[in-house]
Amino acid sequence: MLGVRFEQLSTNNEQRASNNEFMQLTNRAKQVDKSEMTIAERLYLPAIAGGLAITIKHFFKKKPTINYPEQKRYLGPVFRGHHILKKDTEGRERCTACGLCAVACPAEAISMVAAERKAGEENLYREEKYAAVYEINMLRCIFCGLCEEACPKQAIYLRHDKFIPVFTERQDVIFGKDKLVENMNERYLREGWS
Ligand code: SF4
Ligand code: SF4
Repeated sequence: MLGVRFEQLSTNNEQRASNNEFMQLTNRAKQVDKSEMTIAERLYLPAIAGGLAITIKHFFKKKPTINYPEQKRYLGPVFRGHHILKKDTEGRERCTACGLCAVACPAEAISMVAAERKAGEENLYREEKYAAVYEINMLRCIFCGLCEEACPKQAIYLRHDKFIPVFTERQDVIFGKDKLVENMNERYLREGWS
């Protein structure tokens, strides 16, 4: 039964094809040229010359690729990359461990432990409370930038000029303060910042 129906369908299709009834889906259809090839075409000379011309043209063009990681591209001012815990101009950590970034994080990637600043630590931490532990799980992070938006102390930023390095071990994916806190010898500044 199925075989008879299939036969009918294919006969109908053949009839429609012969009547040229099929709907044209695009206008890219080309009539196949069945004319005899010239001698030059048979020798493939024009095709070889055309191919060589394209190769030579690309040889002198500026390369669109770069030799990464030796060379790095400018990523643009709005790129969201490596997180950084900023210090103020006096070198004190800005973060007060308020937890707003962790609450705002949709991936629940941030965790921290707060601590009280002790006497004599005023040059290390700007506020009376600071983050003794601050960790971001880079396997969870989706680089949305919401932690940056939520921070009332301008303490966390996603750098526009630095990727997260490739990691191959699970223990390397938790970025602690050792990787996040700003180095005062290599301060992170963004265009437009004073
Ligand atoms: S960038 Fe987004 S996902 Fe990553 S830590 Fe910040 S808030 Fe969480
Ligand atoms: S980085 Fe900002 S939002 Fe997050 S705990 Fe520190 S001060 Fe609060």
